[in-house]
Amino acid sequence: MSELVIRQIPARRDNYIYLLRDEASGAVAAVDPSDAEPVRQALAKEGWRLTHILNTHHHNDHTGGNLELKAETGCIIVGPRADHDRIAGIDVDVGDGDTYALGTAVAKVFDVPGHTRGHIAFWFEGSRALFCGDTLFIMGCGRTFEGTAAQMWNSLSKLKALPPETRVFCAHEYTQANAKFALTVEPDNRALIDRAARIDAMRAENKSTVPGTLAEEFLTNPFLRADLPALQLAEGSPGDPVATFAAIRLKKDKF
Ligand code: ZN
Ligand code: FE
Repeated sequence: MSELVIRQIPARRDNYIYLLRDEASGAVAAVDPSDAEPVRQALAKEGWRLTHILNTHHHNDHTGGNLELKAETGCIIVGPRADHDRIAGIDVDVGDGDTYALGTAVAKVFDVPGHTRGHIAFWFEGSRALFCGDTLFIMGCGRTFEGTAAQMWNSLSKLKALPPETRVFCAHEYTQANAKFALTVEPDNRALIDRAARIDAMRAENKSTVPGTLAEEFLTNPFLRADLPALQLAEGSPGDPVATFAAIRLKKDKF
């Protein structure tokens, strides 16, 4: 297993596109290109040639650059089988349990429905890197537009089972607002209080807060902590992680 070189490209208001390069083969993937132009610029700067696009889900702020980039480079577009008809230019369908090789770097694919029906995540174990789109955010999670709380909890539980050193490369810089909300759920969580302060300092300097590690998420992300008895009790659903997750998600939607 070889380690990817990863570049983060800010796009639109708060999107992150990622460029992944497998040095051994020269394969280069763009993850969730909202737009073609920032990808073009990043490729030119690095002197890289695009060979692949990896899409986590169908929303335009993740696929908007697909067709232009494909027309220019002939790259292969890899996306969720369950959303084949909603991914512009898709060439390769992948789903739960599949692996996809980007040159010598291998990703394991998870179906993580909830935000959208067909949402997937790519886990490059050899690079300790998870590309989870709009499913898991730093200290937050995506809205359940096309799924239920039970589905989203199940999806997050799959990601929660990955090694703690896994780096979470989510698709948006939502961290500061997420931290603010998380503090309303767990005002006495020391790890959360400390992390929120660090995030405020980073954002004051306009620094990216992504990626973080799963280990940090276990301690500070209320949506991953719905299985903890203390949180369940506070949300009025002892013994019920799904109801606890649903209660926290509903509060966040109104926050
Ligand atoms: Zn989305
Ligand atoms: Fe998005």
